[in-house]
Amino acid sequence: MDEHSAELGRPEVSVVVPVLNEQDNLSALYEQITETLTDKYDYEVVFVDDGSSDDSFAVLGRLQESDPKIRVIRFRRNFGQTAALSAGFTHSRGKIIVAIDADLQNDPADIPEMIAKLDEGFDVVSGWRKKRHDKAVTRLVPSKIANWLIGRITGVRLHDFGCTLKVYRREVLAETKLYGEMHRFIPALASWSGARIAEMVVNHRPRTAGAPKYGLGRTLKVILDLITVKFLGSFSTKPIYIFGGLGTVSALGAVVCGLIVIYQKLILDHDMTGNPLLILTVLLILATIQLILMGLLAEMLVRTYHESQDRPTYAIKEILQSPGDSGGCK
Ligand code: UDP
Ligand code: MG
Repeated sequence: MDEHSAELGRPEVSVVVPVLNEQDNLSALYEQITETLTDKYDYEVVFVDDGSSDDSFAVLGRLQESDPKIRVIRFRRNFGQTAALSAGFTHSRGKIIVAIDADLQNDPADIPEMIAKLDEGFDVVSGWRKKRHDKAVTRLVPSKIANWLIGRITGVRLHDFGCTLKVYRREVLAETKLYGEMHRFIPALASWSGARIAEMVVNHRPRTAGAPKYGLGRTLKVILDLITVKFLGSFSTKPIYIFGGLGTVSALGAVVCGLIVIYQKLILDHDMTGNPLLILTVLLILATIQLILMGLLAEMLVRTYHESQDRPTYAIKEILQSPGDSGGCK
């Protein structure tokens, strides 16, 4: 990819910045990025205006006119930070992609060291805001819990999934489709398809201009997204394993309860009117049927998903073959 990207006029590094109402931060951010990256890399900066209602877009327009390295994408309305990052990734061309917040809380001065780390043989380098400058209770505690949960459930141990400042190889992003609040799960998704992930302590600064965009509600969204990501990651090619597994548990429950009910009726001669175990047995039988049928439906969906988009169910790192070998049927 290296030689090709030079031919295609691709920059080495793309910096992607999601922007929502950050008019007073943008010029300083631009200056800090420029100061750090000029002379070091061939780079571009992609700003994504996520439906700002202040003067952010006008400020970005002025910056773009003064510097051809800048590209500005403007959304029709606010679609959220994940969507903004996703659009930025798609509309950038660099071999290395750096995501960074627009509010100056992340420090562009960390970028070169992170890129150097990437060059040591990693595919993602994720920032860790070890000394965070956010309000203690409402931000830090939920974030600690969320990071612990994400680490446990995805099996990818990072201290700070929520830090936007991350450096990616383009290949890693090419395959990931982002929904909801999922940009924070890119390291986990990437690691599942075999990418090597590193974490690096980065500078974090208090917000000096503009308002924070999130409250506690985000933690709930993150946890719901985590369930989705885990489900898709672990079972998206074999959903019947999870539905069938749960179905088996409820079938076993139905058998046990059913036997007890029969024993109560035939041997103990209990009156069955309103017998809770009888109700539970019927419920478990219904649940079993539902779960198995849902599993089969999900299997059909998975086939549609993979086959309609020609998506493989695996990720190949490289193929060794001799030059004359055309390589399989494709
Ligand atoms: N942001 C965005 N769209 C949104 C919310 C936020 O593009 O709907 C941007 C925002 O302008 C900032 C970054 O995402 O550049 C992070 O937002 P914020 O600083 O409010 O989040 P925090 O630092 O608390 O994670
Ligand atoms: Mg911030």
